Amino acid sequence: MTRKANPSQINSKNDASLLLDLFDNFLIDCDGVVWLAETLIPKVTQFLQLLEQHNKQFAFVTNNSSKSRQSYIEKFESLGIHGISKDRIYTTGYSAVLELQKMGIPLGSKIWVLGDAGIEDELADEGYVPLGGSNPLLDQSWNPKNPLLKVDPEVKAVIAGSTNEFNFLRIATTLQYLMYDNKRIPYIGTNGDRNYPGPEGLTLPAGGSMVEYMSYCSGRNYIDVGKPSKTFADIIFYDTGFDRAKTIMIGDTLSSDIKFGNDANLGNGHGTLLVLSGVTTVPELKELITHPTGDDDSLVPQFYVDSLTKLYELLE
Ligand SMILES: [Mg+2]
Repeated sequence: MTRKANPSQINSKNDASLLLDLFDNFLIDCDGVVWLAETLIPKVTQFLQLLEQHNKQFAFVTNNSSKSRQSYIEKFESLGIHGISKDRIYTTGYSAVLELQKMGIPLGSKIWVLGDAGIEDELADEGYVPLGGSNPLLDQSWNPKNPLLKVDPEVKAVIAGSTNEFNFLRIATTLQYLMYDNKRIPYIGTNGDRNYPGPEGLTLPAGGSMVEYMSYCSGRNYIDVGKPSKTFADIIFYDTGFDRAKTIMIGDTLSSDIKFGNDANLGNGHGTLLVLSGVTTVPELKELITHPTGDDDSLVPQFYVDSLTKLYELLE
């Protein structure tokens, strides 16, 4: 991969137009890029319209597995972004399901879920049968006689992701499946994210903290279907048919979005745009550029801009 010692700031109409000329396909992260929690980032709607006017294609790529693509459509609508179809949204609940299909696990199979409705809904939508997940029996306090601790031998895979209901019973039931049959049931994790900025200024545990927890207690690795994994990139490019060389990833997080774009060699190594409207601060970006260490190369964006608001205003 080419070292990007000096990411280019998009700061003029010329820079912004060049960016638009270079790429045909735009992969766009949601949190910190399109919205902050429940607030739309200004002019994102206009930016998407502008992409359409220029015959550009775009898709949303999020590590969130707790919401289904249908829930995302509803969120887009509620924020005034209309007409986004399901096939332009990639959540990691959905990528987990596509991975099952890629592995040849037949539709109709039972899949054990540690996670929220976003995973269960996507499984059911595609014709799989989710077990575990939001089953209220799993909300009970620990009891070794809970019937869900008995492994259903028809379960063909385990998918783990983020859940606010991470309790001992969910951990223990999931562990039974991960240990079953000499650890032969495939284990898919929705992402490896450690934490994320939550409401009230809180830092909250992200999906990866639960996926890795299960990895630790089972002594197993997982198939990572979230950013920055190449598996996720392969799924998206197979599904969309986008040309990688003409694709750019737009995101606010260096370790997931920017690394994803670089590791997947988007835009021949130049297809990454960091927006500063989310988790990454200007001092963090400066520190990365001035003191690059170890594998930080893959964290360096080719381009950066204040926000999609700014990008739109430059192009307007
Ligand atoms: Mg983000």
